[in-house]
Amino acid sequence: MHHIRRIFRYLRYYPRELAGTVIFNILHIVFNLSSYILVIPFIELLFGMSQPPAAEPALSMNQHAMTDWMLWHLYQLKDMWGLWRCLLTASAAYLACSLLSNLCRYLGYYFVGPIRQGMIQHLRDDIYHKITILPVSYFNSQRRGDLLSRMSNDLFDIEWSIVTSLLSIAKDPANILLFTGTLVFISPRLFLYFLLILPPSVFLIVQIGKSLKRNSAKGQQKLGGLFAFIEENLSNIRVIKSFGREREQSRRFRDANADYTRTMVRVAGRRELSAPLSEVLGTIGMVGILILGGTMVIQGEMLSSVFIFFIIIFARLIPPIQSLVRAYNNLQKGNASAERFFELLDADETIVETPDAKVLDSFARAIEYDDVSFSYQRDGERIPVLEHISCTIDKGRTIAIVGPSGAGKTTLVDLLPRFYDPDRGEIRIDSIPLHRLNIASLRQQIGLVSQNCILFNDTVARNIAFGHDHYSLEAVRAAAQAAYADSFISGLPDGYNTLIGDRGMILSGGQRQRISIARALLKNPPILILDEATSALDAESEHAVQLALNSLMKGRTSIVIAHRLSTIRNADEIWVMDGGHIAERGTHDSLMLQGGLYRKMVDLQSFAD
Ligand code: ADP
Repeated sequence: MHHIRRIFRYLRYYPRELAGTVIFNILHIVFNLSSYILVIPFIELLFGMSQPPAAEPALSMNQHAMTDWMLWHLYQLKDMWGLWRCLLTASAAYLACSLLSNLCRYLGYYFVGPIRQGMIQHLRDDIYHKITILPVSYFNSQRRGDLLSRMSNDLFDIEWSIVTSLLSIAKDPANILLFTGTLVFISPRLFLYFLLILPPSVFLIVQIGKSLKRNSAKGQQKLGGLFAFIEENLSNIRVIKSFGREREQSRRFRDANADYTRTMVRVAGRRELSAPLSEVLGTIGMVGILILGGTMVIQGEMLSSVFIFFIIIFARLIPPIQSLVRAYNNLQKGNASAERFFELLDADETIVETPDAKVLDSFARAIEYDDVSFSYQRDGERIPVLEHISCTIDKGRTIAIVGPSGAGKTTLVDLLPRFYDPDRGEIRIDSIPLHRLNIASLRQQIGLVSQNCILFNDTVARNIAFGHDHYSLEAVRAAAQAAYADSFISGLPDGYNTLIGDRGMILSGGQRQRISIARALLKNPPILILDEATSALDAESEHAVQLALNSLMKGRTSIVIAHRLSTIRNADEIWVMDGGHIAERGTHDSLMLQGGLYRKMVDLQSFAD
C-alpha cells in the first residue's frame, strides 16, 4: 500500500483543513454518543423499571456506580419536577445533542472538500509538469493513449477510491474506538463475545481486498489499452477508412472492451460482497449478544435500560466498521491506479544537466560531433542507429544531410537539442559539451522546422508567438511577412486572430509550414534545423515554403535534411548518410564528380522528374 501512503503525503499541504476535519468528526461522535446515553433516563422514566438507590451513591468510574449515580439524580429530579417536566428536559437535551452532533458532522465534511479537490489538483499539476520534462525517448516507448489514461482514468480512480476514503479514515477509527470503549465500559463480558467473531471477519475482509487489488490493476491496465486503441484510431482514421478496416477495428475494440468489462464486473462483484458479508457477521454478533445479554438482564446482573443502551451502541458500531472495510477495499482498488500514476510520475528523466550547467547565451564558433554513437531502446533491446560520427559545423555554414530513409539523419540532428543523449562520444557547442549546458538555454539557440509541423488549437498569432510570453503583433506580422505567410493570414476570416483548429486543420500543408517557419523566425535562433521541411508539399507550396526557408536561413547556421536533392545544391557542404555513417561529404559538384551514392541518388531523382 505504499503508493497510497504517498498520496496521503499530499495531505501535508492542508494542515488546517485536516485538523478541522478530525476535530469536528470527534465532536460529532461525542455528541452522538451523548444523545444515545439519554436513552437510559427515557426508559427508566417511562417504564420505571428499576429501584432508585436508597442514598446518594458516590460517583466513580465504573458502569454500576455511574448508572446508580445517574438514577439517583434522575429520581431526585422526578420527585422535584414531576415526570412530565423531566421527560421534556430529557427530550430537549436529546435534541440539542443531536443538533450539535449533526452540525459538527457537516463541518467535518466541509473541511474535507478542499483537501480532496486540492490533492487531486496537486497530483494533476505534478503529472503535467512531469510530462513536459520527460525526455522524448520516453514517449517513444509508451503508447500515448495509455499515458492519457494514466493522467485521466487512473487519476479519477485515485480521487474516487483513495481521496473519498479520506473521510472514512478521518472519522471511523475514532468512532470505533469511542464506541468500543463505551461497550467495554458497560460490559466487558458481552464485549468479549463480540471479539470472538472478529478474527474470521478480518480474515475474510483482507482476502476480498487482495482480490480487489489484483483485478483492479488488471482493469486499469486494460482501460489504458483501450484508450491507446482509441487514440491510434483517431490519429489514423484516414488510413482505416481507405483500407476499409472499420469493421475489423470495431471488432477488435469490442473484444478489448468486453474483456475490460468482464474484469470490472469481477471487481464490482468482489466489492459488493463485502457489505452483505459484514452485515451477516454483524447479525451473528448481535444474536449472540441478545442471548447473552438477555440472560444477564434476567439474572439481574444488568439493568434492562443499560442493556438496551448496549445494543444501540453495538448497532452503531457496525456502520463505521463497514465503512472502514469499504474504505480499505477502495484503497486496495485505488492502489492499483496509484501505482500506474506514480510509475509515470517517477519515470526516469534521463536527460539531465550537470549542477554547474552553463547558460549558453550565444553561438560563436562551431558545433562538433566527436565520435558519437547512438542506439534506440526497443523492447529492452538496443538498436544501433549512429556509429562513430565525427564532424564539425562552423558558424554561418549550411550543411545538408541526405541519404536513404532510415540512415539516421533525423536521429543525428535530434541529438543537438538533446532530445536524446549519445551512448558514446560527445557533442560540443563552442567547445562546451552539451551536458554541461543549461538545457533551456541550449534549446533557445536552436530553431526546428520539421516535416510534421506542430501547431496548436489556438489563434494564428499565438501559434507564431509560441514560446514567448510577451510579444507584439508587429513582430508577429514581420515574422509572417518574412515567411511569406502574411498574405494568406490576412485573407483568413479573423486574420491573425483566426483559430486554426486542431493541429491547424483549417490550413493547407504549405500554409501550416509557413506558420511554423514564421514561428522560427520570431524565435530568431542562431542555429536552424530543417528536417524535410518541404517534402510533404506539392510543387506550388514547396516554392512558397522554399522562399520562406531561404529568408529564415539567411545569416544562420543551418542543418538541412532534404529528400529532394535539388533544394540543397547550394549548401556549403553535403553529408551523405548511409547505415548510421557519414559515407560521403563534399559540395554538390565534388560529390557528383566522386560518382558515389550521392551521384546515384541525384541520377535517380532526375530520372524520376
Ligand atoms: P532517417 O531520418 O534517415 O530516415 P531516422 O534517424 O529517423 O532515419 O531513423 C534511423 C533508424 O532508427 C531507423 O531504422 C528507425 O527505424 C530507427 N528509429 C527512429 N526513431 C526511432 C525510435 N523512436 N525508436 C526506435 N527506433 C527508431
